[in-house]
Amino acid sequence: MIIRNNVHAILRELPEGVELVAAAKGRTASEVLEAVEAGVRIIGENYVQEAERNHKTIDDRVQWHFIGHLQKNKVKKAVAMFDMIETVDSFKLAEEIDKRCREIGKIMPVLVEVNIGRERQKSGVLPENVEHLIREISLFPNLKVSGLMAIEPAGSNPEDSRQYFAATRKLYDSIRQLNLPNVEMRYLSMGMSETYRIALEEGANMVRIGTRLFGQRSQ
Ligand SMILES: *Cc1c(COP(=O)(O)O)cnc(C)c1O
Repeated sequence: MIIRNNVHAILRELPEGVELVAAAKGRTASEVLEAVEAGVRIIGENYVQEAERNHKTIDDRVQWHFIGHLQKNKVKKAVAMFDMIETVDSFKLAEEIDKRCREIGKIMPVLVEVNIGRERQKSGVLPENVEHLIREISLFPNLKVSGLMAIEPAGSNPEDSRQYFAATRKLYDSIRQLNLPNVEMRYLSMGMSETYRIALEEGANMVRIGTRLFGQRSQ
């Protein structure tokens, strides 16, 4: 009931053309199902194992996006299940996704994850290396580069994230203007529960929201 109301409130608030990704980490399959029944069309999963469990209950009535850190040994399972991988941040990972997709005849839409806060402990590509990586991985026939994803540095004040969103948007626009072959800069995935309003003001067209849909995580 609470989840349903939260989903309805967010969906009402998001402008036309903005995709909602329900970030499902740590939630039960029945919680995720409640969100789907309320109108969520994309589930974001951080862990392949949790995704497999939820996928069994919910299946392909929704789209599945991988939004966590993908290890090479999980790629084979991941490409079978996911409709988009939002967190490509290395040539090696892209190469493995391409290879595993080729085996099953799939073309995987991917976003390149940008480490926009230049945080040492975080995954993602540094902004100055994004164009080079995209040029390289755009040559893989079973990948389709479809945009950028960024996780802003955690901050106490949501306004602090604005500069990072603006910088990611600038990078996104500059790469889009290159019109690279086999690259479609279509999605800009940024903004979470505390920051999505600011991300929208800065040009996000995909937001990843967990807490505001499902409530506080217990762990
Ligand atoms: C958990 C998570 C989110 C959602 O975070 P909330 O603050 O709970 O909305 C978004 N993106 C990624 C990559 C996440 O891991």
